[in-house]
Amino acid sequence: MTGEKIRKLLEKVVDWVYPPHCVNCGEPGALICENCLSQLQPVGEHFCPTCGKPLKPRHFCRHCSGAEFPFQSSRAPYLYEGPAKAMIKALKYKGTLALVPIMAKKLSDFWRTNLQWDTDLTVPVPLARDRKAQRGFNQSDLIAKAFCRNTGLKYDPRALMKIRETLQQVGLNAEERRENLSGAFAAEPSLVREKRILLIDDVMTTGSTFAECSAALLEAGASTVMCLSVATTPVDRGKQKTLDS
Ligand SMILES: [Zn+2]
Ligand SMILES: [Zn+2]
Repeated sequence: MTGEKIRKLLEKVVDWVYPPHCVNCGEPGALICENCLSQLQPVGEHFCPTCGKPLKPRHFCRHCSGAEFPFQSSRAPYLYEGPAKAMIKALKYKGTLALVPIMAKKLSDFWRTNLQWDTDLTVPVPLARDRKAQRGFNQSDLIAKAFCRNTGLKYDPRALMKIRETLQQVGLNAEERRENLSGAFAAEPSLVREKRILLIDDVMTTGSTFAECSAALLEAGASTVMCLSVATTPVDRGKQKTLDS
């Protein structure tokens, strides 16, 4: 028996002894049940072409107006709510690695149907070395790798490094996030020079991580950066202004 077959068999045995429970609703049977999968909240057809945040029709994006993002575009298939949030949290904080292929499949289906961007190299948002050692894996790296297997895109996690540990972004506002991340990333010129980069992360919040990573990639000679995440946090609807106002 090959290693892969043994692994699959062991998985079946483990599933039989400890049946998986849905990370969102807790129902036994699957890591994420069909019902919860069907309740993933898509960003929808009205979104900001730059940051990818959902917009009401005929509104412009206040999220972008104060920030000059160095990337060309950022997109995500889902809102960071309900099942998408539960899956990302289970992967990140509980190490439920079996969710990676499920999330990567959703992401590659979205890329195929909606994006098909012409890019040369796919790069995950890196973790600093200590954080990665602590967690044991980088969720964005795992998602990007599986995504590239599905799409056939070229993948190289060595192209971008996090050279300095930063505070957790949770609880910081947009400006504090930018300050916190400033100079935290460095890209490898020999790998990114004149390349169109596809940058992948699990969640986009204010866009400051994508912005800092993009700045490092461009500084190292990349020609453009496009960003893709599994989910994006919803925007405060009050911050959207109508085009008429
Ligand atoms: Zn469920
Ligand atoms: Zn925007």
